[in-house]
Amino acid sequence: MENQFEKGNLSINSENILPIIKKWLYSSADIFVRELVSNAADAITKLNRLDSLGEAHLSENEEFTIKIVLDKDARTIKFIDNGVGMTADEIKKYINQIAFSGATDFVNHYKEKMDAEGEIIGHFGLGFYSAFMVADKVEIDSLSYREGAEPAHWLCEGGIEFEISKGKRNERGTTVTLHISEDGEEFLDDYNLRRIAKKYCGFIPVDIFFENAAAKTHDKEPMNDKNPLWLKKASDVTDEEYKKFYHQVFMDYNEPLFWIHLNMDYPFRLKGILYFPRLKHELDSIEGQVKLFSNQVFVADNIKEVIPEFLLLLKGVMDCPDLPLNVSRSFLQSDGYVEKLSGYIVRKVADKLMSLSQNNREQYNVYWDDINQFIKYGCVRESDFYDKCRDAVLYKSTKGEFFTLKEYIERNEEKVGKKIVYANSAQRQSQYIRMFEENDVDVVLLTTRLDAPFTTHIEGFEEGVSFARIDSELSDIMKSEKDGKDAKETKEEKDRKKGLITIFKEAIGIKGLNVEVQSFKSENIPAMIFLSEESRRVQEMSKIFNMKIGDGKVDEKLILNDTNELVKLLSEGNLDKDDARIVCEHIWDMASLSQGHLSPERMEKFIERNTVILREFVR
Ligand code: ADP
Ligand code: MG
Repeated sequence: MENQFEKGNLSINSENILPIIKKWLYSSADIFVRELVSNAADAITKLNRLDSLGEAHLSENEEFTIKIVLDKDARTIKFIDNGVGMTADEIKKYINQIAFSGATDFVNHYKEKMDAEGEIIGHFGLGFYSAFMVADKVEIDSLSYREGAEPAHWLCEGGIEFEISKGKRNERGTTVTLHISEDGEEFLDDYNLRRIAKKYCGFIPVDIFFENAAAKTHDKEPMNDKNPLWLKKASDVTDEEYKKFYHQVFMDYNEPLFWIHLNMDYPFRLKGILYFPRLKHELDSIEGQVKLFSNQVFVADNIKEVIPEFLLLLKGVMDCPDLPLNVSRSFLQSDGYVEKLSGYIVRKVADKLMSLSQNNREQYNVYWDDINQFIKYGCVRESDFYDKCRDAVLYKSTKGEFFTLKEYIERNEEKVGKKIVYANSAQRQSQYIRMFEENDVDVVLLTTRLDAPFTTHIEGFEEGVSFARIDSELSDIMKSEKDGKDAKETKEEKDRKKGLITIFKEAIGIKGLNVEVQSFKSENIPAMIFLSEESRRVQEMSKIFNMKIGDGKVDEKLILNDTNELVKLLSEGNLDKDDARIVCEHIWDMASLSQGHLSPERMEKFIERNTVILREFVR
């Protein structure tokens, strides 16, 4: 066998690679604005660094700016900065070599002399080429800060062939001119271009001014905020400033309820503010917005891969300069980072909730309606979160009181054990609710879609605790003494009950209906329907996930109340057959009403029957 050995660098043919970059690298065309403004900002940051290291000599009152100049008539967009600039050699090195990052080069070069890579945005040496997504011709005019540097001009059509020549620029800095292609038409619109610049660069650390050359207008105020609130120390920020920032960034003119200022240095840097929004309507499902930044440059909204999902229900900004985002920025490279990030935020949010609920319980109760969905979702998604904020999870009762799980159990354990009795409709289930309230048992309201998975989660977490909907069984406390624990039934009693059940079943003609007889404390209720908690939940779950689990039926039971006048009448067997049938049908319909399932036909008959009864009554 031959043993040939050769070593070398792979070469890339720019003709082939550019279409790939254009097509695959960037998630959307508008990010060319972000990339070119970031480069301009980097150029200014670098110059400042060089100055502080004594390598550049700036005058005292130097003003650094980035200008975006739109000229619709000439079909150009210019990005102008007064940063470090580039010599012809540097252009060859940094621009002509695709994927060679001058930013990384700079950081490596000065690593020893300054702390970390902080604040330099560039990374991959590919950002510049995003210009070709919208331009068919790009020019660079640059003058380096170096003493005696010559201006350089670079021109490239289609991102393939370049020309480099002596330039004309006579002030330090760089102008990048994009000759917009047909693909980029939309970016020649003043409003649109401003909107994009503001979206990505609204918090960049250098003043950005916008000019419209065709209309001969230029802004006097920078379009961005150089010192975003999240970078300040929480102790230096007033409530008013937090609220103002919220209104501006999220266009939400409601006041936020409260907020958390995030600030972390190790193991990675993260600064940000998370706001708890107020819901506009009680039944609103919350829709948050978490804006992700990297070194003050906007990356994207609501990136699920970076931000724990339940936080996306909040509104906030997060600046993570160490985020291992790949070139297209919104795609993440590794996820170990995300776990740590998530862990940190979860802890911060839980701490805030705990301190609010412990130090300011009255106020916290008021917040609960707005924040409960968020918290419940968080508990379901991250067990860790529930573990850390257990005592900040509240249950609101039908009487408008708020309890923690501990408090609820303390108040009710004697009567119902470690069961949380809940209702999901205060109106429809009012009869059941009243029966519990009369016996001094607190009923909590669980009315959102999240409550089913939430309660299941809590049951798995809290030893011995279970949730029971008020109509899941006839609780012992609702039974009259006569049916108490040690009441022994005589054979006579048993037969009477059996007879009653037979009469009832025959009358309403539903086979397989489970009917029982019990003695309620409240005599005015003839019968109630109970649905087994377990089978009802299974049915609810199969609805949520749209699949068949089990036989899909809910175990339903009708309990006739022995202490009720009408029921007594029935069981004495003195009514004629027709009357008995009518009484049974009516009892059955009334009980079904609380479950909200009277078919149209049954409803019609029910109303007819009521009319007859009323007529008898007023006669
Ligand atoms: P990155 O910013 O990730 O390094 P880019 O493709 O965006 O990659 O830019 C490549 C390099 O070109 C930069 O690192 C920088 O050295 C140089 N460069 C680009 N724009 C400018 C500018 N406006 N001023 C000075 N240098 C620039
Ligand atoms: Mg760049």
